[in-house]
Amino acid sequence: MTRMDFVVPVYNEQASIDTFMARLREALVGSDIEYRVVFVNDGSEDRTLDAIKRHRRQAVVIDLSRNFGKEAALTAGLDHADGDVVVPIDVDLQDPPELIPEMLQCWREGAEVVLARRCDRSTDSWFKRNSAGLFYRIHNAVADPSIPANVGDFRLMDRAVVEALRELPEARRFMKGLFAWAGFRTSIVDYHRDARESGGSKFNAWKLWNFAIEGITSFSIAPLRIWTYIGAVTALFAFTYAGFIVVRTLFYGVDVPGYASLLVSVMFLGGIQLIGIGILGEYLGRAYIEAKRRPTYLVRRVYGQSRDTD
Ligand code: UDP
Ligand code: MG
Repeated sequence: MTRMDFVVPVYNEQASIDTFMARLREALVGSDIEYRVVFVNDGSEDRTLDAIKRHRRQAVVIDLSRNFGKEAALTAGLDHADGDVVVPIDVDLQDPPELIPEMLQCWREGAEVVLARRCDRSTDSWFKRNSAGLFYRIHNAVADPSIPANVGDFRLMDRAVVEALRELPEARRFMKGLFAWAGFRTSIVDYHRDARESGGSKFNAWKLWNFAIEGITSFSIAPLRIWTYIGAVTALFAFTYAGFIVVRTLFYGVDVPGYASLLVSVMFLGGIQLIGIGILGEYLGRAYIEAKRRPTYLVRRVYGQSRDTD
């Protein structure tokens, strides 16, 4: 019997829990796996905790002390999962559990990570689709290793991969990046992404923007290094122009006008410098937060600790 743990972060999802459990059961009926759901209640303000506690026969419930965000909740779930294979999955059924047998088959054939790739994102909003596409392009241009496009957190991982992820010491965790960084033998299964079962997405444009910055600054220092080159090009330009002015002054004498060009160049350089300082700040801020070594999440209580007790 293969032991499978589903890691399911939930934040205000009371309406989705029962449908999710029913659909999971249906999708896995007849397969030779023994599954368990590791629910992480990410500080829900509604009745989500009660809803998941009702499923304690098939589930462990990790109740976080407040809302820490999906990345932290996912980390908490991975820390508590102990199956032979571990599958992070969204509770809103946008990640179809019917895909599990196919993913499991890939694992049996030797893959240590089986990615589920959305073959179309027509159910996502126009904004989400395009912003995601742009993010992957920029991220993969500057960061190493690159993140496969159209792959979310939904994937099947061997125990060894989960152990490796747990070894990574950083407190701020951009999971998509960490997953990619870990590597391991990977195969891909395609699926069609459905619309959300109930409720709305928990991510607005501002959250996604910050998420993207988190991703890039966590896995690339290109935005820091680029200032050396911007500085070099600007300096080269300035020296050339200075030479030109000196020569012109020698031949034609002093001419007073030049106010406009002076102002433009001062403003331009001021702007460029502020952007550079802002980017320095992004990294410094992250180093500062990481240096405090606070834990990624805090657990209030765990219900149904180990496989044997439930
Ligand atoms: N989620 C969470 N904490 C948060 C935000 C979201 O645990 O602060 C969970 C949410 O309950 C869901 C999953 O993360 O199970 C994905 O969220 P959502 O469906 O809103 O994201 P989207 O599908 O829009 O990317
Ligand atoms: Mg969703």
